[in-house]
Amino acid sequence: MRTLICMLCGLLLIAAIAPAGEQGAVMLDIGHQSDARGAASPDGRVNEYEFWCRYAGEVKQVIEDAGYSCLLINRGKAPADKQLRAACAAAGVVQMNKPDRGAKRYPSTHYPEHIGCGMVCADYAIDSKARCVVFLHLNSVGNKWSRKPPAGLIICNRKNGRVLAESVCNSLQKSLLKVPGGIPYADRKVKVLPRYIGSEPSAGWMNALDEAGIPAIVFEAVYVNYKQHVDYICREEGARKLARAIAAGVVDWLRQSE
Ligand SMILES: [Zn+2]
Repeated sequence: MRTLICMLCGLLLIAAIAPAGEQGAVMLDIGHQSDARGAASPDGRVNEYEFWCRYAGEVKQVIEDAGYSCLLINRGKAPADKQLRAACAAAGVVQMNKPDRGAKRYPSTHYPEHIGCGMVCADYAIDSKARCVVFLHLNSVGNKWSRKPPAGLIICNRKNGRVLAESVCNSLQKSLLKVPGGIPYADRKVKVLPRYIGSEPSAGWMNALDEAGIPAIVFEAVYVNYKQHVDYICREEGARKLARAIAAGVVDWLRQSE
């Protein structure tokens, strides 16, 4: 597995490995892939994969501007759509070319007791000695519009991710929630949910990263089945605000952990 990755994107892999004694990069993972785009809004305006293809580069830019190295990865192939492809190329997305969706789940090469789809990204983070991993998703409860404001949620791995998750929650709270025209949530809060996901058949990548001592969070705080959230992120300004708020939370955590 590792050899294959090296053959496909050797230069990027070499660039990703932290020199001895240095802190690794922040790794951002664009959730899902071009032929399985994750949750979509009932009106088709937004889906998880396309949104983060467009805006993950903004998250990365803010982290780099703060003086930290940042890698952007996706487990699938480069998108066929020209605009998305250009956005991913401009942001320097490392494509893992391993679309292991559906029933195909793989054990971690480092911790084979942990199994999941998208495991290739967790293994890449472990190989690269990533400082932390942020899995960029959007959330949905069912596929119809919800009338009730949802619960804001950031999942973290149980042993290592809580402080990072709290930092991102605080940042979202400050810049998106408690401002006029911000994003509404059920109890006016974004919450942290630590999770140790069962190794079969769920997303064992969080567990594998926990074993490796790498803080990891899954961003699930914006809902594609809640119209006010969709309206917010479908405006360029709102989308960029969201991306920058996530990045600011990661940067706060990086600074605090120094
Ligand atoms: Zn997702």
